Amino acid sequence: MRRNDEASSNGRTADFGSAYEGSNPSASANSGPRPGSARAELKALARPSHVLLVPLGEVSPKVVAEAAQALREVLGVAAKNGPSLDRPRYAFNEARGQYHATSILRRLASLRTGGSGPVPVVGITDVDLFLPDAPYVIGDADRDAGAAIFSLARLSHGAPAEVRRRAQVETVHATGHLLGLSHCADYRCAMFVSRDAADSDRKGPGLCSSCRAALGSEG
Ligand SMILES: [Zn+2]
Ligand SMILES: [Zn+2]
Repeated sequence: MRRNDEASSNGRTADFGSAYEGSNPSASANSGPRPGSARAELKALARPSHVLLVPLGEVSPKVVAEAAQALREVLGVAAKNGPSLDRPRYAFNEARGQYHATSILRRLASLRTGGSGPVPVVGITDVDLFLPDAPYVIGDADRDAGAAIFSLARLSHGAPAEVRRRAQVETVHATGHLLGLSHCADYRCAMFVSRDAADSDRKGPGLCSSCRAALGSEG
């Protein structure tokens, strides 16, 4: 139902498995809202004071620290470390051997407290995520709830530095959704959807000029 309807009016934006992104990844990106509509939505969004980064499961502190650095450099948003959470057993689906992304998002959204008002929460996990209508998802975001999650389960092969770079890319991607950005058709842009590590590696943590403009950052 949500597939091919990313960044839909309900604010949900999933990064689906290959069965849904297909062999032509730009097709789904093109079906999203035009950049103009993303820009219009953004007008209503205030810049958060910071983003809360929450590791779930076995996620190295270095991954989180470098993710925070990417948020500062690319989005100009400060990041704070949230609580380190255990592997989300409550979200485990035994039949699939995977973890339900929506159920984790709900838990993450409950962490949105703080003196300066609710802040966006981005979870980083090592468990494989799914949604009922997708074989797997790399990430999922609920803009209305202010929570996003992505998984390194399918991005964790290779050198540790490569994995940390992918985490940076996907942290910017997830946070970009929470700031109002939709998927981008430019495969070099962090807002391009990732189906696997190769997609993540091809992107950088940086945003293309049109996503930067949508966020109101300097070119
Ligand atoms: Zn996405
Ligand atoms: Zn872009």
